[in-house]
Amino acid sequence: MSKHQGSCACGAVRIEAGADPAIVSMCHCLQCQKRTGSTYSVHAYWPREEVSVTGGRTAYRRAGDTGCYITFRFCPQCSSTTDWDVEAMLDLIGVPVGLFADPAFPPPTTSIFVPHKHGWVVIPEGVPQNEGHGAAFLDAAAAALARRTEAGS
Ligand SMILES: [Zn+2]
Ligand SMILES: [Zn+2]
Repeated sequence: MSKHQGSCACGAVRIEAGADPAIVSMCHCLQCQKRTGSTYSVHAYWPREEVSVTGGRTAYRRAGDTGCYITFRFCPQCSSTTDWDVEAMLDLIGVPVGLFADPAFPPPTTSIFVPHKHGWVVIPEGVPQNEGHGAAFLDAAAAALARRTEAGS
């Protein structure tokens, strides 16, 4: 039974999650600002096996600010970002919180790239503020980069 159900703007891509997300991240990075056209983006991360995504999507891969790659997927009809993979933590899947159209969705557990935050954006009280990604993310990213170097690519 799914606990959270979402879709892209046109409904061609559907997302179901069986539990609350492990991480809800408020991202102020400039890349998210460009991707969304908004001033920040809010991301939910789950263990991959807890989420099902159905419907055709187009992928776009880019380097993140920490040097590891992220593959974003989006609906080719309505252009909503639907989900993504972070190379450094492939056991998780990222989904934009807005896809659930649910004002009662769990709130942020962390905020990242805070130096790029617009001055008027207020981070909820008690939510950790990180200059880049949080320490756990950076550790995972470093491990992924080390594996790639060892592989000689
Ligand atoms: Zn769509
Ligand atoms: Zn971002």
